[in-house]
Amino acid sequence: MASTLPAAVGFLAEVRQDGGRPLDAVFASLGSRAELKERTADQSLRTVVLHSGAPDGAHARARGRTLVLAGELYNQDELLRLLPPGQALPGTDAALVLALFDTYDAHAFRLLNGRFAALVAAPGRAVLATDHAGSVPLYVSAAPGRVLAATEAKALRTAPAGRPLAARPVRRLPGTHQVPAGTVLDIEVATGNCVTHRTWTPPLARRIMREEEAVESVRHAVEHAVRARTGADTPLVVLSGGIDSSTVAALAARRSAGPIDTVSMGTDEADEFPQARVVAGHIGSAHREITIPTADLLRRLPHTVRAAECLDPDIVEYLLPLTALYLRLGDQGRRILTGYGADIPLGGMHREDRLPELDTAVCRDMDTFDGLNEMTPTLSGIGGHWSTHPYWDRDVLDLLVSLEAGLKRRYGQDKWVLRAAMGDVLPHEVVVRPKLGVHEGSGTTSSFTRLLTDAGVPRDRVRRAKQLVVQELFDQVVVEGRQPDEVATGAVVELVADRLPAGVRPVPR
Ligand code: ATP
Ligand code: MG
Repeated sequence: MASTLPAAVGFLAEVRQDGGRPLDAVFASLGSRAELKERTADQSLRTVVLHSGAPDGAHARARGRTLVLAGELYNQDELLRLLPPGQALPGTDAALVLALFDTYDAHAFRLLNGRFAALVAAPGRAVLATDHAGSVPLYVSAAPGRVLAATEAKALRTAPAGRPLAARPVRRLPGTHQVPAGTVLDIEVATGNCVTHRTWTPPLARRIMREEEAVESVRHAVEHAVRARTGADTPLVVLSGGIDSSTVAALAARRSAGPIDTVSMGTDEADEFPQARVVAGHIGSAHREITIPTADLLRRLPHTVRAAECLDPDIVEYLLPLTALYLRLGDQGRRILTGYGADIPLGGMHREDRLPELDTAVCRDMDTFDGLNEMTPTLSGIGGHWSTHPYWDRDVLDLLVSLEAGLKRRYGQDKWVLRAAMGDVLPHEVVVRPKLGVHEGSGTTSSFTRLLTDAGVPRDRVRRAKQLVVQELFDQVVVEGRQPDEVATGAVVELVADRLPAGVRPVPR
């Protein structure tokens, strides 16, 4: 992978006082692996990092503590100001976080705006941390004498059963839990006892701003988030032509010396190619269109579930076309910017004018995003890439969630404040284009539904059947550790169709 990617994109870490056997480091993400072993008087630490060419950048060690970091920070400039004067500047994100840990201990994680999962091994302690959005998933299995942690649940599938923690249990992996979004788990290794610190929660209050002030704030925040995520090399934006990704592409293009790269995916059934072409032409990007036949798309369902480790069929439908696209990019280790996630804080899926209902939807979505793994970098990681989502930057998210609902829906338009913020940058037809979800614009939902109805699933059981397909795939590719290329989507669909209660299912055509 190229140097513009984070030092590490994943890890497995084992902090042990029990002398147990090391786990196999199994990841869906691609990357080079480096192993680090340390032993102190009272415990050992073994980590395997998935790195992109500079494994030393993924670790930092000082004063008896070791930190491993998968991912990257976006507010280094602010953070550097917190270090004691005269201290040598840390050369990596991992060293910066460890330096802050010296001063703030576990509360250092409250300071970070980033996309990361981290572990600090300190004498007698294992401290696990996610970013505000849990956007790099982190899993843990803890028992007296050992703390095992990994950025993919499947790496812990052979771990001995851990003790219960105040975190979400992972289906069929006894004692394995997902560290919640915006959370630090501070675990005493000898006992497995855990103290939890929340480091971020979605804002509940709403800010009242004049139109111009809101529009300017949104423009500034998104611009900043795009800049922080754009490396030294030409960025690649996955572009639909909808307002969310068109905004990211246009802002990335404005700060790039040369043309940026954009790519659109479609299927034999549906695409948004004409819409994306308008934007690519306007910003002068080097644009590609990739058509994936729906049969090939559906073949990627096992890969999607294995990468996202997600059990929600709606989310899997959003992620499937992007996963298929990432696998088809062909380039070497690209930094990819997306417009993913803008609809959650802005209520973009809400298609009518009533504001109480809109704010109810925002509250519900901000309450339930955790654990869905929508933002996981593993989706692009299986193609060797690193994806990052400016709308889920901590500052952007804090702002967008907290805007009063009348700024999100205004003059009959959804996501009004974002559209208004881009009025001088994008063509009018793009600014006012109605939302079309990636699962709709690519024909993913319709082709997945057809696969099920063709197998004899009645229309009113399709949602339930999709849930069961995703669950069965999760069991096969995460819990049982099967390779996704060995798992046929069609066979799983048949299995589920057969298992739906008899009498409800008509005879297949
Ligand atoms: P809108 O929500 O207004 O449709 P959007 O299309 O940019 O804007 P989503 O539909 O929510 O956003 O899709 C999420 C993200 O997935 C997009 O912002 C974009 O980065 C990516 N994406 C969606 N559809 C495609 C596509 N056909 N090709 C490439 N990337 C896509
Ligand atoms: Mg769209």
